Amino acid sequence: MAGNIDYEVMSAGIRGMFFMLTPNESSFEKVEEVPHYVQQATPFFILLMVLELVVGFLKTGAPVIPLGDGVTSLAAGMISRLPMLLVRGCELSAYMFVWDRYRLMELPWDCAWTWWFMFLGVDFAYYWVHRFAHEVSFIWAAHQVHHSSEHYNLTTALRQSLTQQFTSWIFYVPLALVAPPSIFAVHIQLNLLYQFWIHTEMIKDLGPLEWIFNTPKHHRVHHGRNLYCIDKNYGGILIIWDRLFGTFAEEKEKVVFGLVFPINTFEILYVQLHYFFYLWGRSQTYTTLADKVSTFLNGPSWQPGKGRLGDHVDNPPVTGKEIPHQPSWSLPQQVYVVIHFLLVLRTYHDLFENKAILSHFTILGMVLYILLTLTSLGYIIDQRPTAAILETVRCVIMVTLQRYGYVAPLLSSLAVPTEAFVSLSLLYWALQGFSQLLSIKRKAD
Ligand SMILES: [Zn+2]
Ligand SMILES: [Zn+2]
Repeated sequence: MAGNIDYEVMSAGIRGMFFMLTPNESSFEKVEEVPHYVQQATPFFILLMVLELVVGFLKTGAPVIPLGDGVTSLAAGMISRLPMLLVRGCELSAYMFVWDRYRLMELPWDCAWTWWFMFLGVDFAYYWVHRFAHEVSFIWAAHQVHHSSEHYNLTTALRQSLTQQFTSWIFYVPLALVAPPSIFAVHIQLNLLYQFWIHTEMIKDLGPLEWIFNTPKHHRVHHGRNLYCIDKNYGGILIIWDRLFGTFAEEKEKVVFGLVFPINTFEILYVQLHYFFYLWGRSQTYTTLADKVSTFLNGPSWQPGKGRLGDHVDNPPVTGKEIPHQPSWSLPQQVYVVIHFLLVLRTYHDLFENKAILSHFTILGMVLYILLTLTSLGYIIDQRPTAAILETVRCVIMVTLQRYGYVAPLLSSLAVPTEAFVSLSLLYWALQGFSQLLSIKRKAD
């Protein structure tokens, strides 16, 4: 609401993204007092993404955020935060558990030294969270989501894993032996926020800052599948950890982004979960128990008889001429996906705003609806044969939810046009689905 803009919150939101908050304004006694910095930054995420699109277009003459890929990245970001509707983040919950029962001493929450100690502590722990996420296959199965885009832009930053938090907490709990959870709750957010703006090709070099800080230049290397990029530059805010522990690589020839073996799909649950199934399948091809277990605990390139991390001899060579997977879909379909993505984004936002007054049953139902919507939109982007049938089913559910007031229109003044649009969508996809069913039946005959 224009009249209600809180400039202090706004200022903290934007400075929080660049780690420019002082200890004085971001130290709190209780966890409950800690602002939701990530949530507050949402408008700035959008603003910077629009800016990147404009600057990118002026520089290259083409959209630097391809629609299908961008929507999939944003959808992954949404999915990764769904568990927080019901529980606190795993990392903070585990931290509070250890602090409550096992703390050895209490650093004062209102001392700048504690704040700086935690800045270094959380960033150091993040380095190891991230390194293990690349060197231990079952954690990589969670983290590969973040690397699954073949593009590198600000939406890639939000392409986050749903499952990674279930292991990353282990690396932070040693800090809970000495430092209060409220300061941890600040830094775990600031560390994540800082990593947003470095996902861009628009910034080439930042001079002396490149020595100390993780920058777009260093993080591009981390997202590369060129041989010189694999398992390099794990740092969060500081790059010094990579320089210290021998995992640093300078940006050299053109970085080709994405997984060594691209997944070529925008189906959102597949993006999140496929590697777990792949690992299970691979472990079943080995005969000894040691090899089966090693599939999960060693690096993704490990093979029996090789060292812990294996080697990369089977990697397809990177030539720099790789063309990212791009669906060919019509303009009306693109418009359709954008509108329905915005609608589900509104539903998602409303759900987080109202979670305190909704029953667990309603929240669970809405989470399933959001997952169904994102899956269905992914099917349309992928141009799958069954997309129309799935979308028809989804439209029926959406109309029902709208009737009962669980789903709000994009803007309340647009309620009638939105509903008309949704009804037309339903009709369109129902006809498509019907003709698909007929053609499936004809093939079967
Ligand atoms: Zn990574
Ligand atoms: Zn990244």
